[in-house]
Amino acid sequence: MSPSEPMAGSSFATLQELVVDKGLCMLCHGCVASCPVDAIEIVGERVSLTGECIECGACYRVCPGKGYDFDKVREGLFGRREKGIKERFHGVHLSGKNLRSSDDEVFRAGYVGGRVSAVLIHALEEGLIDAALTTDWGEGPTLSVGSGRICRDRASVLGSSSSKYLFSPVLTLLKEVQRDPDIERVAVVGLPCHIQALRNMRSDKAASRYTEKVVYALSLNCGAPNLTDENWRSLIGRIMEVSREDISSVDIRKIKGRTLRFRVRMKDGTESVRDRPLSDYMGMIKRYPRWPRCDLCIDYSGELSDISFGNPLARTEKGRDLLDGAVKAGKLIPGSRDQATSQFAIDVYGYLLKKVGAKRRVERRRRKGEPHPEYRC
Ligand SMILES: Cc1cc2nc3c(=O)[nH]c(=O)nc-3n(C[C@H](O)[C@H](O)[C@H](O)COP(=O)(O)OP(=O)(O)OC[C@H]3O[C@@H](n4cnc5c(N)ncnc54)[C@H](O)[C@@H]3O)c2cc1C
Repeated sequence: MSPSEPMAGSSFATLQELVVDKGLCMLCHGCVASCPVDAIEIVGERVSLTGECIECGACYRVCPGKGYDFDKVREGLFGRREKGIKERFHGVHLSGKNLRSSDDEVFRAGYVGGRVSAVLIHALEEGLIDAALTTDWGEGPTLSVGSGRICRDRASVLGSSSSKYLFSPVLTLLKEVQRDPDIERVAVVGLPCHIQALRNMRSDKAASRYTEKVVYALSLNCGAPNLTDENWRSLIGRIMEVSREDISSVDIRKIKGRTLRFRVRMKDGTESVRDRPLSDYMGMIKRYPRWPRCDLCIDYSGELSDISFGNPLARTEKGRDLLDGAVKAGKLIPGSRDQATSQFAIDVYGYLLKKVGAKRRVERRRRKGEPHPEYRC
């Protein structure tokens, strides 16, 4: 059976048995976003049924954790497979550029040049979208899960700029958007797993209504680790020299150049603040293991998005129009040679980690009869 095909009689029990209990959940929140009766929640770090299941099967059908039919979705989106060596590396795309935000404030707030934020601000200012759906640091109690933000203006986009190595509930905002008469068009920013779930939702008879207002799907490349709550507590406990059990919430922002400001709220209401170089943070975070299912994910560069970031790659025509429009409007300018060089090195790492390494890990699991996602690609 194809990974995207519906399964007869599927329900939350199917999702639980074939995905959650087998350790294949990516915490993309696609199931929560698709449940028409709001019966599914993430409790701690586990997808859970907290209401009554009506057995529509949407949660199971949209789930990218069980595997993914990249061939089918790619064909529907682009009308073709990858061509040539560049596309085997990066996925189907129409153009790619080394860019950064021209605006100092956006550049500084962003993680790597503020390119995502610049594109969102451009789309809002030009009236191409009414809102952008982005990700904030979480409000607890699980440090590994962020919170979603509906941005209607520049200040809000900047407030949620920068990368957070968190599981994002961004897709769950789609229901709120669907109900809001003032919002007709949105851009969603997500990781590759979010975009996969979003594409599944769009073609699903029960879940597609939640995606009707989505006009742009923007993806971040993803090769850096998403940590568990336990490991976040350990990391932050070490950086801030506080007791890990007593941490209530964390907020990390770039303040200047490559310096991060860590703001940690403790359960007793006190707050501590500390500045650390980005390189220290990245060095420490990489020592922690990745969420196990992320190690089986073969999509490094958001191959099913309209635009993906790293170096922005426009994949669809509307993605290319949006990116070109942001360049023409002067919102994005060429990035530095250093930025291009370091992005190239990161992309090689990401390619080896996911398109080579994860494929091998999936194959190994298949041979051993262990739970694994089914891919068609
Ligand atoms: C978990 C993770 C792993 C990554 N791994 C790589 C990698 O291996 N190689 C690589 O080239 N790039 C990777 N990135 C992307 C990279 O860190 C930058 O986000 C990207 O280059 C865009 O930078 P920017 O300055 O243009 O974006 P910004 O202008 O800073 O905007 C970033 C946008 O992403 C949103 N966002 C932040 N965190 C999340 C999240 N967890 N889920 C969904 N949306 C989020 C923000 O709300 C914001 O809208 C990763 C990002 C994350 C979150």
